[in-house]
Amino acid sequence: MPELPEVEITKRKLKPLLAGKRILNLGNKKILKLERRGKAILIYLSGDYILAFHQRMSGKILVTDPGFTDSHVRYRYHLSSGKDLIFHDVRKFGIKWYGPEKKILRDKYFSKLGLDPLEINFMKFEKHLRMHRGMVKALLLRQDVLAGVGNIIADESLWKARIHPREKIENFSKEELKRLYDAIRFILKKSIMLGGSTMRNWLHPDSTTGGYFKKRLIYQRKGKKCRRCGTIITRVKVAGRGTFICTTCQKLK
Ligand SMILES: [Zn+2]
Repeated sequence: MPELPEVEITKRKLKPLLAGKRILNLGNKKILKLERRGKAILIYLSGDYILAFHQRMSGKILVTDPGFTDSHVRYRYHLSSGKDLIFHDVRKFGIKWYGPEKKILRDKYFSKLGLDPLEINFMKFEKHLRMHRGMVKALLLRQDVLAGVGNIIADESLWKARIHPREKIENFSKEELKRLYDAIRFILKKSIMLGGSTMRNWLHPDSTTGGYFKKRLIYQRKGKKCRRCGTIITRVKVAGRGTFICTTCQKLK
């Protein structure tokens, strides 16, 4: 599932393809700006309307030639540039919103979204996480706590910060929280720089693939050596999700 880096890349690559264009089959509305909130892309339109997408498991937002077609195209928008903006979704879990701006932003996905880890300083991050209790990985995955983090970013960040995913947030020292904050931002920025993770079928809007997965630190590296200490990486279940750890680098206190 696309996480923050993939959605951020989608937004950045869509921008030049959509800026100033009109959507002919949406009342000729003009595209004014694009925004990422959590794992969703918002396209602001004239008349105070929003068209937004969440890619969920297998969604892709592509800008294609108008002739492009296959059975997984769920939504198609004709652009004044002559291209089509399409939402392609093999597993059909993706979400589309369309309507007046105020109504869309009141939707529970947007109104309950937590803080964006790329947009907050450490003071705010610390204060925010200290309001919660429980296992750090479970907190990282909650979109109402930190928006945009998913399973890959969580595992990569915890390994980078040398923190066990089951460690309880109430036991964290300030120094550990700072390590976690720095690690999450490091991984997010590195992934964005490398074009995100193409694991199954996620693609950039221009159909190129992301390069982070090949450079990943620990996610889905079970049985391989830890890049830091050589210990064989194991897979455990934390918060109901497959989780990759190095038992030497990430010890429970
Ligand atoms: Zn290690």
